[in-house]
Amino acid sequence: MGHCVNIRVHDIKDKAITLAGEEQIVDYPTLLAMETSGECRFVRPLDIHLSIAREYDHIRVSGNVATAVGMGCSRCLVETVHDVVSAFTIVYSKDAGLKQDEEEVELAEEDLISVTYEGDEIDFTSEITEQVLLAIPLKPLCREDCRGLCGNCGTDLNVAECGCDRQDVNLKFNALKNFKTEK
Ligand SMILES: [Zn+2]
Ligand SMILES: [Zn+2]
Repeated sequence: MGHCVNIRVHDIKDKAITLAGEEQIVDYPTLLAMETSGECRFVRPLDIHLSIAREYDHIRVSGNVATAVGMGCSRCLVETVHDVVSAFTIVYSKDAGLKQDEEEVELAEEDLISVTYEGDEIDFTSEITEQVLLAIPLKPLCREDCRGLCGNCGTDLNVAECGCDRQDVNLKFNALKNFKTEK
């Protein structure tokens, strides 16, 4: 694929066309910005597969995107790699400036993403970006039972016990235990 994933509307037929390949993060400004700001690190390019077909008065795109990001654990800060995978269906309608209430209802029922396009070309960059953003974990964990850092001294409790008195934490834990036994 080229430097951005796009297709000329004229080339879209009833029979589905496939666009597939690897895309570099540098071609996706929003994703690149996340990397620059240190939010996450893309450990491989975007692996994209799009199936594009004309359907009635719109264009249907079924696709998936996969990559992987290295992110600091939200509890202990250690970086781990997370798969980022999304499958989606997007319906592109020509922006004719008409009211499309009826169609929108219909699309909502099918749980599709509805987008309008203008001109002779559809650029998929922003929709692909959005799908990747939705699939990136909000609170990544290195593992489900990560013990995190000691709030007092900062020791990684997965690695060592620092000996700090973390009574606040224990009190909460006891309260939770009581709550459970009462039930
Ligand atoms: Zn962790
Ligand atoms: Zn400590």
